[in-house]
Amino acid sequence: MPQGTLFIVSAPSGAGKTSLVRELIESLDGLKVSVSHTTRPRREGEVDGVNYHFVDHATFEAMIERGEFLEYAQVFDNLYGTSRAAVEHLLNAGQDVILEIDWQGARQVRALFPDAVSVFILPPSREELERRLAGRGTDQHAVIASRMHEAISEMSHHHEYDYLVINDDFTTALRELQSLVTAHRLSQARASERLAPLLDALLSEEPGVE
Ligand code: 5GP
Repeated sequence: MPQGTLFIVSAPSGAGKTSLVRELIESLDGLKVSVSHTTRPRREGEVDGVNYHFVDHATFEAMIERGEFLEYAQVFDNLYGTSRAAVEHLLNAGQDVILEIDWQGARQVRALFPDAVSVFILPPSREELERRLAGRGTDQHAVIASRMHEAISEMSHHHEYDYLVINDDFTTALRELQSLVTAHRLSQARASERLAPLLDALLSEEPGVE
């Protein structure tokens, strides 16, 4: 069975990455999202094992020691990592896998999987990003400024990615992501392996069965 492809998706917070990825995997067959491990505390509404595997620092460090991460990074004040075994299991089963990770993780994955396809999602404007980061308007000015600083730092790596998608209209951005995955699946390198039996039959000089 041909191996699946790794799709890396990065974005600053406020770009709508998580909602887009959720819709994307629901709309396309054969595409799964990898559930990361993190030391970040669980936010309201998040479910352990669904949004993240929430672990303490000692557990995360032990996983690093045992080489269990495909990639890991400190993002802001917390550690985040992708389980090597879980991702390899999916890829070997022929599933395409999305990694929702930051630019540091993206670099590590590209070094290991040069064929990984990477996408950076951008907000439509500076004003809109500020509006989204301000949330309900109850946050302190300094908190918003710090989120903006982090967003700019993440966005400054946009040029390391294969594709840029702007999330202005959600449906348009989703369609663009779907197109990108589909186009990749139809590329010569991917399709010829998957379609090998068909191509053999089509190109055979043997007389067919009447
Ligand atoms: P949040 O805490 O808001 O869910 O995520 C914060 C940042 O951590 C986001 O940029 C997200 O892409 C990144 N992140 C989430 N999981 C991973 C991971 O497994 N590895 C890396 N390198 N970054 C991650």
